[in-house]
Order: sequence, then structure tokens, then C-alpha cells
Amino acid sequence: MKFDSIIIGGGIAGYTAGLRSLEAGLKTAIISNGQSALHFSSGSIDLLSHTPTGKAIRNPAAIFDKFTNEFPLHPYSKVGKQTVFESLNWYKNILTTAGIPLLQQEDGDNHLRITPLGTLKSTWLSQPYIHQLPMRLNEHTIKRIVVVQIDDFRDFNAKMVTDNLVQIPEFEGVEITHTSVAIDGFSGLKRNACELRSIDIARILTNESEIKALATKLKTIATQDDLVVIPAITGNGKGLSVLNKLHALTQLTFHEVPTMPPSMLGIRLEETMIDLFIKAGGMLLKGDQVTHGDIAKDNNSSNDELSLKRIYTRNLESMPLTADNYIFASGSFFNKGLIAQHDKLQEPVFNLDMNSNQARSTWYNPQFFAPNSQPFLSLGIKTNHNFNPMLAGKVITNLFCAGSNLGGYDPIAEGCGSGVAISTGYHAVNHLLQNTKHNQSQHLTSDSLV
Ligand SMILES: Cc1cc2nc3c(=O)[nH]c(=O)nc-3n(C[C@H](O)[C@H](O)[C@H](O)COP(=O)(O)OP(=O)(O)OC[C@H]3O[C@@H](n4cnc5c(N)ncnc54)[C@H](O)[C@@H]3O)c2cc1C
Repeated sequence: MKFDSIIIGGGIAGYTAGLRSLEAGLKTAIISNGQSALHFSSGSIDLLSHTPTGKAIRNPAAIFDKFTNEFPLHPYSKVGKQTVFESLNWYKNILTTAGIPLLQQEDGDNHLRITPLGTLKSTWLSQPYIHQLPMRLNEHTIKRIVVVQIDDFRDFNAKMVTDNLVQIPEFEGVEITHTSVAIDGFSGLKRNACELRSIDIARILTNESEIKALATKLKTIATQDDLVVIPAITGNGKGLSVLNKLHALTQLTFHEVPTMPPSMLGIRLEETMIDLFIKAGGMLLKGDQVTHGDIAKDNNSSNDELSLKRIYTRNLESMPLTADNYIFASGSFFNKGLIAQHDKLQEPVFNLDMNSNQARSTWYNPQFFAPNSQPFLSLGIKTNHNFNPMLAGKVITNLFCAGSNLGGYDPIAEGCGSGVAISTGYHAVNHLLQNTKHNQSQHLTSDSLV
């Protein structure tokens, strides 16, 4: 099978690249092995919350030029300010038009969201039922917070959230309480309550009578002046429709918090991207895994460069897939996009060069909760300025890396995971268009997708 572009990996970086590639009119396939990090994420898009040295960032655009000068090896410095913000706006627009609005502060500041621990974390874009608190927290206007525990649901702890929220000095004077609510449909589930996950509740809550019953109960415990913190327990193929109904029935101000995995907020993003990709004509090989590829001298290059000729997958075995260009968005250690052997770090599909060959003892900080980040989070594939990786020092010209398999940044400590994934996936397509003879590239527009 021959494609214009093949994307390896179905996380936020891979789907961004896939959607952008389809927009450019390219025949596109995504091969994706397993669950992406979105199933564990808050569903908010972090752009840049902290510098690598730990300094909090209020307005990413305002410090971006200084940031890229100071940290030239960071992926954002290679992508460039214009493309980073263009890609995030593009992502926001396509998701919003597809029914998952992504909202931000009008002044370009990050905002704070309440986490499942009852702490606050800054982010850039959030879904509509995430209450955006100002970075200058003392400017908040909350009068009362009601944290809702769902009876028998163990993956969210309302008391812990409450206990931690009351310790935030800026919430002094805010009444913060927690209360529990039963979902009637649980009684019909003949299973151990410990096995009850958010996705199970989401299934129950596709039933209109369950939604109405929950709305009635919520109205008895909170008023329209309150912020109602609820675990994210709706979605599962229904997007925001269930929460929209709950809101319409109650007129309450909800703040969803992700639960223990699976995170319905992240799944909503993934489901929407998959839907857009398939509807726009992309081929999705879900559940398949790229095992290896043939890499040989690039005949179009006068330098000593390489090109990826074809790739092989676990399911298609001896039937290789070929493309003019490939985007490698296989994720980090979390999804086995990268592997830590006892004595070396490895990229397992092509054995690409890594950005560090240092000894194991340098990969981690023995203090697990050290305030600065764990070094292994910044380890990844070594690339040139266009995100082409290298094999034994030689650049592979038609392979582009995107997302968390890249080295040079820490998605968690810097609060930039989805931002880097989106902007590098987007940027990779811009670059492969320069490689491709496809003449539709000039017509790159998001209208065709949505
Ligand atoms: C627990 C957790 C919570 C996070 N929360 C947030 C958050 O709230 N906001 C935020 O902005 N960022 C968050 N991040 C960071 C951010 O989610 C990640 O940086 C980002 O999602 C990475 O996306 P990705 O597409 O690069 O990789 P992934 O999401 O890891 O996707 C890679 C995909 O490639 C597949 N794959 C791997 N190898 C192969 C192969 N050989 N063949 C086929 N498929 C393959 C994997 O199965 C997977 O589906 C979080 C990260 C983690 C780990």
C-alpha cells in the first residue's frame, strides 16, 4: 500500500499531523498501537507553564522570544513562535467546530484549573466545563465550592479535594464543602464497586432518565452561585452532550476534574480527532504496530543522507507500507515509543540516535518528588532543526519526529506536553510538504476538515 504520508502513533501529535496532512490533500494513514497519553490527561492543552529552570509563566506569548533564546534546544525553539501559536489556534478551531470548544483567557494568560488532588495547575486551553481561575488568583470571584462525590466511585476523592482546596490562601473566605450523590443505575451493575470506572458511569449516563435523576439530585445540593466540582464521568462517544444536558437542566456552574484513568476529558479529544480523521478520508490502522522499516541511502540527496523506504507492521507482516514521507509520533517511555534498557536508552522501531548516551545514574533523580524534574523526561530522539532523526549520525530526510518521543523538553515539569505535541505534529507536515511534489499543498486550510 502506498500513501503520501504515513503517521506512526495515534496520540495528540499523530492525529494533529494526520489531520493537517489530510487538509493538505495528501493520502494519509495513521498506524496506532495502543492507548495514547490522552487517556491519562486532563484534556486541557498545556502550552507553557514553567521554564526548564522552574520559573512560573503567566503569559506564554509575552516571554516566548526570551524563552527560545535562552533554551535553543527546546522543540518550541525549533518550531518558532509563529508556528507554535498558529498550530494551537488551528487545533482550537478544528476541535471547537467539531463540538469540543477549547477556551482560553482573552488576554493570552494561562489559567489555573482545579486538579483531582484539589491543587491548582496552570494550562492554556480548557474544555467548557473547566472553570478557568485567573493566574492572579486573588482576583477570583468564587463564593462557594461544592465538591461532589459519586457514591461507590473510588477513582475520585471529594474529601481530599476539599481538604486541599481549603488550604489555598486565596480561597480564605470561600465556603468549600463536599457531598455525595448516588447514581441510580449503579444498582443494576452486578459488579464490584472497586471495578467501577469513569467510563462505566459514562455509559450509564447516556440514558436520559439517569441524566434527569442526577440533575434533580445536583439541584438539591448546590445553587447557581456555587462552583460545582464533579469528576469527569460523561463522554464516551457522546462528547459534551451529556454535560450540556446536565447544565441545561440545572443551570449550575460545573468544574470537571479528571479521575483516575481513563480520563473522559482526554478521551473526548481523542474520539473527536479520530472521527474527524476518518470522515476526512484518512486510513486508520488502529491496534497495529510498526515493527521495523527499511532505511537506505537517499538517492535524491547529494549529502550522505538516508531515506525510509518502507515500513512493516505486526498485522500486515510481509506486506510493507510505503509513503513519500513518514511522521514518527510514537510517544515517550509511557507508551513504549522509547525504551530504557539496563544500560542504554533506545528507540525500538528504527533504533534512531538518542539525545543522550549518558549512564543510567544520570537518567533519574533519586529524590522521587524532587522539585526540579526527573531527567529521563527530557531524554528522547535526537533530531536536526527540521525534526529529522538520525541513524548512526546520518539524517533520515523523509522521516519527521513529533510529540513526546522528542528529547530536549519536559512535558510535565514545564507544562507543555500537548503544546509541543500539536506544534511539532503541525510543523512536521509543513516540512514534509516541502519534500513532496504534491501540488495541493498551497490549499492548506482547516475548512476542508470541519
Ligand atoms: C499521565 C500524563 C498526564 C498528562 N497530562 C497532560 C495534560 O493534562 N495536559 C497536557 O497538555 N499534557 C499532558 N501530558 C503530556 C501530554 O499528554 C503528552 O506529552 C502528549 O499527549 C504526548 O502525545 P504524543 O502523541 O507524543 O504521544 P502518546 O500520547 O504517547 O501517543 C503515542 C502513540 O503511539 C503509539 N505507538 C507507539 N509505538 C508505536 C508503534 N511502533 N507502532 C504504532 N503505534 C505506536 C502508542 O501506542 C500511542 O498510542 C500528560 C502526560 C502524561 C503521561
